[in-house]
Amino acid sequence: YAAKRRGAGALAYDPAFDSGSARTISLLSGLRHAVDHHELRLVLQPKVALHTGHVEGAEALVRWQHPQRGPVPPMEFIPFAEQTGFIRTLTAWILDECLHTWRALASQGLAMPLSVNLSTRDLMDLELPQKFEALLQRHGAPSEALCLEITESAIMDDPARAQQTLERLHEMGLRLAIDDFGTGYSSLAYLKRLPVQELKIDKSFVMQMERDSDDAKIVRSTVDLAHNLGLSVVAEGVETPSHWRTLRGLDCDLAQGYLIARPLPSDAFAAWVRRWTEHDARVLQEAPTTL
Ligand code: C2E
Ligand code: MG
Ligand code: MG
Ligand code: MG
Repeated sequence: YAAKRRGAGALAYDPAFDSGSARTISLLSGLRHAVDHHELRLVLQPKVALHTGHVEGAEALVRWQHPQRGPVPPMEFIPFAEQTGFIRTLTAWILDECLHTWRALASQGLAMPLSVNLSTRDLMDLELPQKFEALLQRHGAPSEALCLEITESAIMDDPARAQQTLERLHEMGLRLAIDDFGTGYSSLAYLKRLPVQELKIDKSFVMQMERDSDDAKIVRSTVDLAHNLGLSVVAEGVETPSHWRTLRGLDCDLAQGYLIARPLPSDAFAAWVRRWTEHDARVLQEAPTTL
C-alpha cells in the first residue's frame, strides 16, 4: 500500500513501513479504539507576548493515554497516523475538541485563538476548506477561534496545491502559521507568496542559541526575515529566563515553552491563565541569569 501512493501529495516511500505487520495493525486498531473510547485528549500550551506578557493564544497538542501501555508520545503515533491516512479522522476529532474547548474558554471570558497542527495529508485534502466552513458553522465559532500550524515540509510536498488551499483558508479568515521553521526544506519564494501571518522558530534553535553562535544567528535572522515580511514570530522551547531575555532582546514577538507553562488540560489551562499576570512576565524579564 505504501509503495502505491504516488503523485501529488504522496509521502516518500518508507521501506520501514509495512502496513501488514502485526505492530502496524495493532497500532491502527488501537488508534481507532482510542478515538471511540475517549483515550485521547487535548492539552493547551500558552503563547505569551514577550514585551507585554499578555497571553495571546494557545497551541492544542494531542495526548494519548493507552489503557495498557500508558502515555504514547505524539511522535510515535502522529507519523504513523499520517502514513496510514488515519490522520484525517484524528484531525477531525482534534478540531471538534478544540472548538468545544474554545467555547468553554470563551464562556469564562478567556476567548483566544487556539492553534491546531495540520499534517501533509490534511493539507492535501481538496475538501479541506469546505470541511472548515462546516466545522465553524456547526460550532457557531468565528474563524478567529483557530490558527492552523503547517510545517514547511508539508507545504513543500506540493507547493502549488498547498498555496491554493491556504489561500482559501486565509480568505475564510483563518490564521495560518508555519511550524518548526528552519528544520525542513523551504523556499523563500514560497514563504513570500503564502498568506501566512506567523512563523514559529523550532525549539532546536532556541534551545541551542546560547551555546551555539550559529543557532543564535539563525534565530536572529529568522526574526528579521519574518518582520520584513510582516509576520509575527513565535519561539518554541523557551525553557529558561535567559532564553526569554535573549528572545526579547532579539525582538521576537511571542514565546512558548516550559518556562511559561507545560501543555495543560483545558481546566488547568483556564486556571493558569487566571493566575498568570503580566507581572510574572516582568519578573522573568528582570530575573538574574542564574535562575
Ligand atoms: P510541535 O507542533 O512543534 O509542538 C511543540 C512540541 O514541543 C510539543 O511536543 C510540546 O509539548 C513541546 N514543547 C513545548 N515547550 C517545550 C519546551 O520548553 N521544551 C521542550 N523540550 N519541548 C517543548 P509534543 O506535544 O510532544 O508534540 C510533538 C509534535 O507532535 C508536535 O510538534 C506536532 O508536530 C505533533 N503533534 C502534536 N499534537 C498534534 C496534533 O494534534 N496533530 C498533529 N498533526 N500533530 C501533532
Ligand atoms: Mg505546532
Ligand atoms: Mg512547532
Ligand atoms: Mg517543533
